[in-house]
Amino acid sequence: MTTSTSGDIVIVGGGVIGLSIAYALAREGLRPILLDRREPGREASWAGAGLIPPIADRTLNDGAPFNPLAALRAWSSRLYPEWSAALQDETGIDPGYRRTGGVDVAWTQREDDALHAAAGQWRAEGIAWERIPPGDYARVEPALNPELSSVYFLPDRAQVRNPRLLAALKAAVVRRGAVLEGHRAVLGFTLDGGRVAAVRTESGEISCGRAIVAAGAWSGGLLELAGVRAPTPPIKGQIVLLHAERPLLRRVVEHGKNYLVPRDDGRILVGATEEDAGFDTRPTAAGARDLLDEAIRLCPALGEAAIETTWAGLRPGSVDGRPYIGIAPEVENLIIAAGHRRAGLQLAPGTAELVVDLVMGRAPRLDLAPFRPDRSPTPEEPAADDAFRS
Ligand SMILES: Cc1cc2nc3c(=O)[nH]c(=O)nc-3n(C[C@H](O)[C@H](O)[C@H](O)COP(=O)(O)OP(=O)(O)OC[C@H]3O[C@@H](n4cnc5c(N)ncnc54)[C@H](O)[C@@H]3O)c2cc1C
Repeated sequence: MTTSTSGDIVIVGGGVIGLSIAYALAREGLRPILLDRREPGREASWAGAGLIPPIADRTLNDGAPFNPLAALRAWSSRLYPEWSAALQDETGIDPGYRRTGGVDVAWTQREDDALHAAAGQWRAEGIAWERIPPGDYARVEPALNPELSSVYFLPDRAQVRNPRLLAALKAAVVRRGAVLEGHRAVLGFTLDGGRVAAVRTESGEISCGRAIVAAGAWSGGLLELAGVRAPTPPIKGQIVLLHAERPLLRRVVEHGKNYLVPRDDGRILVGATEEDAGFDTRPTAAGARDLLDEAIRLCPALGEAAIETTWAGLRPGSVDGRPYIGIAPEVENLIIAAGHRRAGLQLAPGTAELVVDLVMGRAPRLDLAPFRPDRSPTPEEPAADDAFRS
């Protein structure tokens, strides 16, 4: 079937970024059309673990030493409880935002030094934390290996059930009159005088006043079709899902890039690998082995948990540690919101609100210069937000 339709705003990609943008636009009374080449909300945003950083006590204007990514993270974390409650009110679906608390742990002096540095940043932002003395770990998390060399407790660490968040966003967007079209892949753009005149799909063109590309790890390839360079290399991440008969873990446990995320229902996510494997999303034996070794070392009781399933997803990379949020160079009505790497779930509300500012022609509530799609990366000055990985 070939159809030709029109929509003022067309969003390409229905992961957490595209759906959050659709939701934020719909809250402004706009009715975007969102297109996804498969069922929306099944790629990285479904595969992620749902770690959400604690809310910083200081506001962005307090002069705290925020780097740009930390500022976006802090704002986004602050928006989460309100977004989550509003989505639940509107749809009856609970996105599962919970402040379960977490522990960041170290085995070696070097890792402890890194946590000590992170704690300085937490203090600057007014995030509550406590260093737990050896021998006292069980007070915050009884399942922790008592031989860990250091344990920092963050009582306000949060998590979200990302598949439920996606379901709530989809329902809310549709209720507010936006159009969600799954199984409709975008193949390119029709450009006219430095503007996108239409989005080309496998079943016809959709003319538009504005296009927003939020297609995760596929964004870079799509943007090339519009002559725009904003690479989003896929970074594969695997997760193993455990299930325990009795509650084995209460808090999120983080060790470097690895983490354990206990859900309300006895399930525990063990994540995540970081691999350069192209667009391959097959979980591997070696990936699962490494994750399970790490999990049992951190919490020996997990050895008795059952393995329920494994999966992998593709985080969208960028030229540095920051996402692209802004207008595409040379194409004035094309907005890019992509490249959120390990943090797309946590950064989604803030990203969506910034895109709304651009669409509505308002001054962005955060300086967008560090997120410009055509910025030069500064490798000597790491852009990544090391205070909270996920
Ligand atoms: C294992 C793992 C653990 C993670 N844990 C966390 C975490 O704890 N916290 C956190 O904040 N982040 C986490 N992340 C990162 C987070 O999941 C991503 O940053 C985020 O999901 C990216 O969202 P997105 O909407 O940009 O991309 P996606 O969710 O990948 O969505 C992109 C969408 O675009 C669609 N699309 C692609 N091409 C086209 C096309 N041509 N036409 C139409 N549609 C198209 C796709 O079908 C897809 O639905 C994790 C990621 C992984 C893999």
